[in-house]
Amino acid sequence: MKKEEKEIIYTLLKTADAYECGYKREKFAGEPLFVDDEMVECPQSGNIESTAEHSNTGSPELSIQPSANSTAGTDKGLSLDELNAKILRCTRCGLARTRNNVVPGMGVENPDVLVIGEGPGHDEDMQGLPFVGKAGILLDRMLAAIGLDRKSNCYIANIVKCRPPENRNPMPDEQAACFSFLEAQIHILKPKMILCMGKIAIEKITGQNISINAQHGEFFEYNGIPVMPTYHPSALLRNEELKRPAWEDLKKFKRRLDEIKAN
Ligand code: URA
Repeated sequence: MKKEEKEIIYTLLKTADAYECGYKREKFAGEPLFVDDEMVECPQSGNIESTAEHSNTGSPELSIQPSANSTAGTDKGLSLDELNAKILRCTRCGLARTRNNVVPGMGVENPDVLVIGEGPGHDEDMQGLPFVGKAGILLDRMLAAIGLDRKSNCYIANIVKCRPPENRNPMPDEQAACFSFLEAQIHILKPKMILCMGKIAIEKITGQNISINAQHGEFFEYNGIPVMPTYHPSALLRNEELKRPAWEDLKKFKRRLDEIKAN
């Protein structure tokens, strides 16, 4: 359907809704972004993703398009800036409706370490940057303790790039919709190692059910890259007793990184 046709239908519905009962309702308060169906790109695997320009705000949009992990192949040919620009326009899942800002990630290219969190919280959603709230301050301290920081040798990203409302866990369909972006980020960044903060990150990266209490500090692999899960900084803020085991994980992680860098 053409953009103009959608606009006409929308206007008719809006008018009917506003005047049928003699007063204006709030239901149509936000103007959706209209696009022609012809503008929708269908990547090779058959998944659909809107290519329309969207602002980086939570404006209501007419169609949130379903998508799975399939665009990783095409996205892997992009530069990091091109990929992140694409992430900023994403409307693959319902989180696009409620976000204030997309949070693609931040850090250096070709980092020693890619740190993966779960998803943006309130502060990250407001600033468009990952791990900038309380948990982020603690994460920066944890990284600094082993000689890492986002300005010189790390990249920080999340499993989902938009904030789940009320800080709930991202749903499996939201994780699936977003995962090809992370796959492409890993392909482009080529980190030497990956540090997963918490259960959601390590489970999505490995595709396995993981108990963080039992398996923090173990090494896994993602496409030949060593991956370690440790406690999410938010968990450490809730329970101080987890700081000691997390510190042991970080020291083990650093030893492996030093070995990799020495070879
Ligand atoms: N928690 C996360 O998992 N990611 C962020 O970016 C912030 C908080």
